[in-house]
Amino acid sequence: MAIRIIRKEDDPVLRKKAKVVDKIDEKIHTLLDDMVDTMYDADGVGLAAPQIGILKRIIVIDIGDELIELINPEMIEEKGKQTGAEGCLSIPGVTGDVTRPQVVTVKGLDRNGKDIVIEGKDLLARALCHELDHLNGVLFTDKIED
Ligand code: ZN
Repeated sequence: MAIRIIRKEDDPVLRKKAKVVDKIDEKIHTLLDDMVDTMYDADGVGLAAPQIGILKRIIVIDIGDELIELINPEMIEEKGKQTGAEGCLSIPGVTGDVTRPQVVTVKGLDRNGKDIVIEGKDLLARALCHELDHLNGVLFTDKIED
């Protein structure tokens, strides 16, 4: 386990589309462990693999109640709307209001390759949308409302 360097806003890796993980092996487990360590070390509520320079579709989230690790996450449903303040470990010192769905349903794989479905509302919905955006090279600053 190790803490990795979090890439910052002007790093081009943050603008690339991450690739689907086709094999979950020991390297992916180490990556997940490092992502979790890095997220907690930085006091974040979520981290996507491109933020540590790895273009794979993997996210980790912990909004304070449980750790979620998701490989190849896909949005399957979005409901309602919420507007609220958002920030990002890759863009320190910046916050802004972003409108996101109130409730989302996301499917993906856990670290054992098992299908999982997560329904998130409020902050968890916001975190899932934010991290999924990272996998497509989208930053929250693209969506800030004035
Ligand atoms: Zn972010």
